[in-house]
Amino acid sequence: MKFRTIKGVQDITPPETSLWQKVEAIARRVFRTYGYSEIRTPIIEFTELFTRGIGETTDIVEKEMYTFPDRAGRSLTLRPEGTASVVRAYIQNALHTLPAPQKFYYLGPMFRYERPQKGRYRQFHQIGVEAFGTDNPMMDAELLDMLRSLLEALGMGGLAFEVNSIGCPQCRPGYREALTGYLSGRRDHLCNDCLRRYEKNPLRVLDCKSPSCQSLKQEAPRIIDHLCDDCKEHFERFRGYLKTAGIDFTINPLMVRGLDYYTRTTFEVTSSDLGAQNAVAAGGRYDGLVREFGGPDTPAVGFALGMERLVTLLSDREGVHPPGIDVFFAILGEGLRERAFRLVKRLRSAGLSVEMDFLGSSLKSQMRRADKSGARYALILGEDELERGVVKYKRLSDGSQGEVREEELPGFFLGL
Ligand code: ATP
Ligand code: MG
Repeated sequence: MKFRTIKGVQDITPPETSLWQKVEAIARRVFRTYGYSEIRTPIIEFTELFTRGIGETTDIVEKEMYTFPDRAGRSLTLRPEGTASVVRAYIQNALHTLPAPQKFYYLGPMFRYERPQKGRYRQFHQIGVEAFGTDNPMMDAELLDMLRSLLEALGMGGLAFEVNSIGCPQCRPGYREALTGYLSGRRDHLCNDCLRRYEKNPLRVLDCKSPSCQSLKQEAPRIIDHLCDDCKEHFERFRGYLKTAGIDFTINPLMVRGLDYYTRTTFEVTSSDLGAQNAVAAGGRYDGLVREFGGPDTPAVGFALGMERLVTLLSDREGVHPPGIDVFFAILGEGLRERAFRLVKRLRSAGLSVEMDFLGSSLKSQMRRADKSGARYALILGEDELERGVVKYKRLSDGSQGEVREEELPGFFLGL
């Protein structure tokens, strides 16, 4: 074979596409009930949007971005996540002039140069949401409530919610100092990446996956012990609202997330229904990012969830059931093709899903195809029917047969 996909990306072909459509349809329905509207941003942006937004010392920016110069020598990047683009679009389109809060969702491909494995790809798909314009912790709780509704609607079980607060520019410096102090005495345990970046961004160590950095985490100073009064109150109210919403959660004081823009609330959702890659969704508050990108001071909160993992789960649980067609139109001889073409068109204009033979196959093999296609009815047109202005029909569920006059065609099937 001459051409294959590049490593870590995949085609999504029928019938699996029907599962993707199902996940998308459920997401759109749930988001609508929470007042979210869809936003579509480009998958390609100036590199600086991501380096500034996600942070220079994050894994994503240091190791995972698809970055290349365009023909004019500008550095462009395929989006590794959605938030930075949505924030840019929010400012560029002056969406902040609309009444707050403004709530958006997006879905589409993201690109990260990672080691491909089950549940982890280089082109993967996320569904994400962003709510701009309020720092009310009830919005954070509403977001998690919506996420739970979505995952439940998809039938995902074994959900665990972990939450944390990672403070704000007031309390972060004090914590950073404490953390840097703790880490500087344990430098020989840091991996090479963290050794390089711990002074600039010690929080990264807490998000590092290397076992030696992980082992340092347990004893490390905890950010929730360093929160300023405002952040403490915010976190308390957030947890209170989660209880009101009936969401069971645990506090994970070591969760900082892999992106620098987060402030205060962070959260991750895992599912025991998934294998090794069990993270379903993650997100948090990013109250400084709109300002950082040159917009007005605007608090915001959001999350993203990985679609591949949802689709895999749905497929394991329910299997793949693409919707069948309504009618398969069989012809007894090439001379009838034009007439059939016209009748098929008429059925389709009435909204029916209709297939016909294109290969000049025998009636037997056409009927086999009709069965396979999941059609409810087969229509059969022969010379005799043509002369009498009728079409034969067969109900495939029970084999019952009859005739229908051509002029009654769409109506007959619409009523069934
Ligand atoms: P991880 O710790 O698993 O690398 P992450 O912190 O990089 O996750 P986020 O950037 O928060 O993940 O993305 C949100 C969700 O997107 C994840 O919970 C996961 O479901 C999904 N996801 C992230 N990276 C990939 C990938 N390479 N392939 C498939 N899904 C992914
Ligand atoms: Mg990652």
